[in-house]
Amino acid sequence: MAMVKCSECGHRISDKAKSCPSCGVSYDNSSEEMSQLIVKLVVLGALGLFFFFVVIPVVVGILKLVGLGIFITKVFG
Ligand SMILES: [Zn+2]
Repeated sequence: MAMVKCSECGHRISDKAKSCPSCGVSYDNSSEEMSQLIVKLVVLGALGLFFFFVVIPVVVGILKLVGLGIFITKVFG
């Protein structure tokens, strides 16, 4: 493990330390986890929008075409 300088007080601390033992400033990576969570939510949201605006209209369109085909077959067939 490497020793790094505390960004707040300049005390030499482990880069694995969650907080500075000298000044107590937190190096918790929860903000990083939060940003990863936000990225996941954005990706899920994009997938949801893709499904809602692309996949469902395409499926509905295909079903309508199939229904129209059945209708035409019944009327003219
Ligand atoms: Zn410090």
